[in-house]
Amino acid sequence: MPESDRCILHIDMDCFFASVEVLDNLAYKDLPIIVGGDSERGVVASCSYQARAYGVRSAMSVNIAKTKCPDAIVVPVRHQRYREVSQALMEILHRYSCQVESVGLDEAYLDFTNLDVNESVLCEIAHQLRTGIKVSLGLDCSIGIGNSKLLAKLASRRAKPTAKLESSENHRLIPVVTDGVGVFIVVRGTEQDFIDSHSPGDLPGIGPATRKKLTQMGVSSVADLRLVPYASLHSRLGNKLARRVFDMARGVDPRSVAPNVRAKSISSEETFSSDLASIELLRPSLVRAVEEVASKLYCSGKAARTVSLKLKTSQFQVIERSQTLPNATFDSLEILDIAQRLISPLLGKGPFRLLGVTVSHFVPIDSSYIQTSFEIDKADGAGDFTGLESSRRKRNTDLVRAVEDVKKRFGPQALIAGELLKK
Ligand SMILES: [Mg+2]
Repeated sequence: MPESDRCILHIDMDCFFASVEVLDNLAYKDLPIIVGGDSERGVVASCSYQARAYGVRSAMSVNIAKTKCPDAIVVPVRHQRYREVSQALMEILHRYSCQVESVGLDEAYLDFTNLDVNESVLCEIAHQLRTGIKVSLGLDCSIGIGNSKLLAKLASRRAKPTAKLESSENHRLIPVVTDGVGVFIVVRGTEQDFIDSHSPGDLPGIGPATRKKLTQMGVSSVADLRLVPYASLHSRLGNKLARRVFDMARGVDPRSVAPNVRAKSISSEETFSSDLASIELLRPSLVRAVEEVASKLYCSGKAARTVSLKLKTSQFQVIERSQTLPNATFDSLEILDIAQRLISPLLGKGPFRLLGVTVSHFVPIDSSYIQTSFEIDKADGAGDFTGLESSRRKRNTDLVRAVEDVKKRFGPQALIAGELLKK
């Protein structure tokens, strides 16, 4: 497939962290919101368009941001929450394409080359995707489409809302946010014109230092940039950057969409509403965490060799312990058994405010999984993992399959551990 025939979408959530904060607290709607550290050295992680109208930008110090926009509401960063929403976003994107490469929490590239549809159908799909995200998550995004990652990314930026200050009837300056087009496609054959409509500093990877060097070379537009011979760029910018800048000025970006490597671990953790010390009080949380990771593990078609336990004391000290098994497992009883053994010697260090269980070191579950376990067990001979162990494993595998089938049909609460039932 020639590179020029590729079809790449770039999806970028609109001021993601700030929008999630507004979603969770509707009182913030239409207000200048800054998400960031409120300390002396805090920086802006994200801000609403109303704050942008005042010139507030990401990575700016919160102090400077507040001088630009004194009425801004500064909200602390809640990474865990953004990760949660991001995961839901990526799940939606995976319904549209298996070629999804996420970039950070709020951006992703999708490769639609194989879809082989015309540009108007493509736009329609992109609009549907945008609506789908809005309906499921309550959040806005912008989508750019082009034949490279570079063009798609610049295009999504073109699709964004804009914000500026305008004087109101009583001559006060008020922020005015104008919706963007939402979806912007770089129509085939117009790639160079589109690139030329940007200034060199708009191109990704060109920071203030490079911009300054380019200005010194008399470059003020992308069209100027194309007139600079490669050798001159090379001597001023160095090999790697020169190549990239030279290519970008021509709309060339050979990078392909690289679907993300699947997660290396699966975790579940819980922060308690009040600190817990005894095993009787901790056990339900332990069981819940184990059930959750075991279920996710099985559903992703994997078994894990390492089980880790994490505890955070009331003094915020984090204690982690793990155990690696000779054979991988997805059996919740086996994982619980190990987690229980890991937690027992730590109980004296409590009370605890958080408990988490993680499994890692994956192997795929298939028929060879059972078979290999059996062989390893035989080879091991004595010890914990005997032939008896492997027949237990086979039985438990069948049990987990049956349990997950029931959950799939009747919902995740259809079958839960007996000890979690309220007496
Ligand atoms: Mg974004």
